[in-house]
Amino acid sequence: DADAALYRAKEQGRNGFCFFTHELNRQAVAKLETEVALRHALQRGELLLHYQPKVCAASGRIVGAEALLRWQRGDELVPPGRFIPIAEQSSLILDIGAWVIDEACAQQARWQALGLAMPRIAVNVAARQFAAGNLDTVVDEALRRHGVAASSLELEVTESMLVDTPAAGIEMLGRLKETGVRLSLDDFGTGYSSLAYLRQFPIDALKIDKSFVDQIDAGPEGSAIVDAVIALAHRLGLTVVAEGVETAAQQAYLRRQGCDELQGFHLARPMPAHAFEALWAGGEVAVG
Ligand code: C2E
Ligand code: MG
Ligand code: MG
Ligand code: MG
Repeated sequence: DADAALYRAKEQGRNGFCFFTHELNRQAVAKLETEVALRHALQRGELLLHYQPKVCAASGRIVGAEALLRWQRGDELVPPGRFIPIAEQSSLILDIGAWVIDEACAQQARWQALGLAMPRIAVNVAARQFAAGNLDTVVDEALRRHGVAASSLELEVTESMLVDTPAAGIEMLGRLKETGVRLSLDDFGTGYSSLAYLRQFPIDALKIDKSFVDQIDAGPEGSAIVDAVIALAHRLGLTVVAEGVETAAQQAYLRRQGCDELQGFHLARPMPAHAFEALWAGGEVAVG
């Protein structure tokens, strides 16, 4: 990246200067190209949402869906890890983020019209959207535009959004909460968790990060963090969701420990809306 290039350039002295400008140019051009392509993708309707079920651990019923962004770039379906970080470097993420919220509400309205209303659809929110200061308005307008109840929309936020300016972050969470949407803390345990703040966040749910779920297979020490997070969440009156559940053993363990909801490839992968409809019509996912 640019820092490494700068370092190498310094090492190489004068010759390095040429290398440095060349390398920086190349990176800047590549970034700009992706950014331009992404802006066009948004305008041309090449972005779409896939949906992954959240399943009640006790009953196996689908209780919601997480909307996950995809980019249909020609024949390729590009995952968010390859373009969200680029979008996050500019205000483009605000437009993409607003589109995601709007599309999730539009999908919820389409499902309602089919009599298949999802209890809730969750969307991921980027730090920049959160920091922009008008997320509550963006959410409220999308809900009104599509005639969707706030309680059927959930926002997944991360601890990293709350690190720099905890007071402003808590204030925005409060405003979002007032709109009536559900709030969950995503990837819990991977950020700079401040347990001291956790109690002040007006959130409804904690999502245990996949990296901890993976460790369940490693026995009692591996599952210690999962156990602790479930207990902590329940003591705080929060719903606890496990993400990235990939095996029957993980599912059985989480269920036994009282984890409320499960999400992961073992239950179902993210899928296009029409595939989700078929699954939803079936009502539940086997939880054994
Ligand atoms: P996330 O919000 O933590 O979403 C979970 C990710 O884990 C998704 O990857 C999902 O497909 C994947 N996943 C679910 N179950 C399993 C499993 O059992 N095993 C494995 N290996 N993976 C599983 P995806 O769709 O590639 O999204 C990656 C990340 O991109 C998301 O992590 C989220 O941070 C971000 N993202 C996705 N959509 C959006 C969006 O609309 N806006 C923003 N700002 N970020 C988004
Ligand atoms: Mg998420
Ligand atoms: Mg997550
Ligand atoms: Mg994650």
